[in-house]
This record gives sequence, structure tokens and C-alpha cells, in this order.
Amino acid sequence: MTAANPQFLKFIDDNQDAFIKRLGEAVAIPSVSGDPAHRPDVHRMAEWLSEKLQSLGVKVESRPLGKQMLEGQELDLPPALLGELGNDPNKKTVLIYGHFDVQPASMSDGWLYPPFELTVDPKGTGKLFGRGSSDDKGPILGWVNVIEAHVKLGLEMPVNLKMCFEGMEESGSEGLDELISEEKDKFFKGVDCVCISDNYWLNTSTPCLTYGLRGIAYFKISVSGPARDLHSGVFGATVHEPMTDLVLLMSKLVTPEGQILVPGLMDLVEPLTEEERARYEAINATVKDFDDAVGAAITFSDDKVQTLMGRMRYPSLSLHGIEGAFYGAGCKTVIPAAVHGKFSIRLVPNLTLAGVTKLVCDYVNAEFAKIKTKSKMTVEMVHGGEPWVADPNHYNYRAAHKATEYVYGKAPDYTREGGSIPVTLSFADALGVNVLLLPMGRGDDGAHSTNEKLDTDNFIRGSKLLGTYLYELAASKE
Ligand SMILES: [Zn+2]
Repeated sequence: MTAANPQFLKFIDDNQDAFIKRLGEAVAIPSVSGDPAHRPDVHRMAEWLSEKLQSLGVKVESRPLGKQMLEGQELDLPPALLGELGNDPNKKTVLIYGHFDVQPASMSDGWLYPPFELTVDPKGTGKLFGRGSSDDKGPILGWVNVIEAHVKLGLEMPVNLKMCFEGMEESGSEGLDELISEEKDKFFKGVDCVCISDNYWLNTSTPCLTYGLRGIAYFKISVSGPARDLHSGVFGATVHEPMTDLVLLMSKLVTPEGQILVPGLMDLVEPLTEEERARYEAINATVKDFDDAVGAAITFSDDKVQTLMGRMRYPSLSLHGIEGAFYGAGCKTVIPAAVHGKFSIRLVPNLTLAGVTKLVCDYVNAEFAKIKTKSKMTVEMVHGGEPWVADPNHYNYRAAHKATEYVYGKAPDYTREGGSIPVTLSFADALGVNVLLLPMGRGDDGAHSTNEKLDTDNFIRGSKLLGTYLYELAASKE
């Protein structure tokens, strides 16, 4: 049973070819936000999308976001599109978000087909190859498909829609936070809940709802000593060496079993409830999936739930590199004058950026004080973002759950992602409403990678899912 209008569902099935053709038009615009040469394409993409939406009766405002310096050039940021369809006070108002910019791609990276031509897999798998097919043009066009179905069939939309589509997501969403906070009591006023379709299923067979994202605190430890690089044959055994001090410090951060050694940090982690644990147990995944994903059997635990929780609900500390160190082939006998150790901690609920920064800096300073060295050391947090978690029992999630059960014939996995999608937190914080991540694509879509694809089935059923979700939201009594 579903609250969705059967005519709507049929329209999506009947118009598959036209939808794929439209996705092809979108993929053909190489809207790479990180490349100055493609900046005009990002603007063109905004115009293309704005026209499509307006032709379906959406009121669209193209909001300039100012300028940006990129690779020594001053560039206009692509506008954000603020769209509105319906303002019936008796209906819920849902804000949907997507981004129309993409990651770079070229044949020389190893693409099977030209990345900016949508290619239907000649092997007949239904895979639609092309940059942006899954991240995030497919999901945006999924919404367009839903709107088109209602307009063409003369059906009333079950909810009021507000839309925020941006063109800088792959380049740090520059300008968007300012727009959100400026408009929170204006354009975004009256939004009841948010739906973002810009992540992926955990695997290739089970749809998921994502209700949490880890944050990050990225640190740099700098150790310096001599005024210039030295030769170990000349100065070895005569001076304190920054690299030796740094390696010792970095070894104090995490154990080979992944345990974080910063005192007090693990005590802050939100305790696990039975209800939450049950969600991990229900996830359709195996430890072998992780082995396959990393290409080796190297998980800390042989237990599925522990492994999933490691990625989704616990913090992690990873050592990333040492700037200033000798690397590469050969046997250079340098004593580096200054080295910078880079590491980061993935944050989870109750670990705030400020709290973790203080714990880490205090600890590293205390450990450095124990070393008998004349080197100088500083430690700082260089960039970060807070973690996010939403209430998965909220009506926003229950509507998506029912829609998934109807469209896919199975309950969704409830996942948290190990990485961050900063705009999620921006909306959750600024608007104070529930945010749902409702992905369209599969875990193997290869967003940001070569041969990015979206399965035709995910595009079509995903479009039904987005529309059915709106009907289930409208049917919800809350
Ligand atoms: Zn994306």
C-alpha cells in the first residue's frame, strides 16, 4: 500500500527514455566547479536547470553568490537556484537540496566512454555512465521527473516544495552557508523538513536512509630545530632531530588496533543504545564487503556490527603524512630542519570540534614536554567540521521508510556515513528541522571516480521513491 498516486508512478515508468535523454543533456554540460576553464559551464548548467524548472511552473530565483579567487583568477561563483512550487498553508513544506556541479573527469583517467556523454552500457546492464550521472545530476533530475509527472498529469503536488540547488558543492560549497543564514527567516521560512539526495547505498542491493555523518578535526604538529636541512654524516649524533621527536609524538596518538590514545576523548562518545545497535545488526552487510572494498582482509574485527560501528558511530584517528620529510626513491641522508605531521580525527556525537581540539592540543603539548629535546613544537587544528545525527524516528524518516518499502519491496538500511556532507549540518543548524539523506544511487556508482554510473533502475525507481516519499510525508499525521 502506498499513499502515492498510481498515475504518477505509471508516468515515471512510461517516460523512462525521455528521462534518460534529459539526464544525458545534463551530463553533457561539463560543470566542473573546481576548474576555472569550466566555470562558464557551471553557469550554463545553472541556466539549463533553471529553465527546466521554470518550464514546469517552478518559481526560480537565481541567486548570485559573489566572487572567488581560484588559481590566481577572479571568478564569479555560480548562482544558487532557489525554487518554490506551491505554498498551500495546509500542506507540509519540504526543502530539497542537490548540486549541479561535478568532479573533473577525462578519458586519460581511465574512463571507458567519454565522461561528458551519457553512455548506456552496451553490455545491456542498464548502467548509465557519465560524470554526474549519480553525483548529483541524476538525483536532481529525479526531482524534476517527479514535478514533470504532476504538471503533465494535472495532479496536485502532495506537499509544498522549496528547492536549493548549488553549483559549488564539489569545491567546498563556497557562498552557500552565507545564503542559508541570510535566508533562514525569509526563503527558508516555513520549511518543515529537509531531504538531501546526494549520497549512496551502502551496497548494491539495499536502499538506505542516512541519519548521521561524522565530522572531522584535522591537525598539524610542527616540529623544528636547525635553521636549515642538515647532513647526517656531518651532524648525526650532535643535534636534536625534529623528525625523531615528531615520530615519537605521532606514535602516542593511536594504537595499531585503532584505539585513540588521547585521554578523555573516548569517554565523551555517546553511549550505544540497544535500539541503535539493532539498526546496525539489521544492515545488509558483511565483513567481506569491507574486505572487497579495501582489497584485502584487514578489518580490525571479524564482527559485522563492530565493523559497521567503527565506520559509522565511533571516532577514528588516522595518521596522514609528514610534510618536509624525505620521501621517494634513493637513500638521501638528510636531517630535515622542520617537519609537519598531519593527522585527523573523525568526530561523532558529543565530540565537538572545540572539545576535541582542546583535548588533543593539551595532550600533545604534555607528551612533548616529556621528551628531552631542544626542538620547538606547535600543534594546531587546521580545519574541521562538526558531526551530525538526526532522529531516525522522525516522520521525515518514517515517510521515506514507507516509500522505500513500497518502491523497493524491502525495508531500508539505516546508515551513518563515515565522512561528512557539510551542507547537511548547515541546514540542520540554521533551520532547526529534521534532515533526511535519501540516496538514489548504489554503493558502487563511483562518484568522484572513473566510470561513474547510475543504474537505470535506480534512476527510475529512485524517481518513484522521491515522489512516493512526498506522498507519505503528506499522509503522515504529524
Ligand atoms: Zn554530491
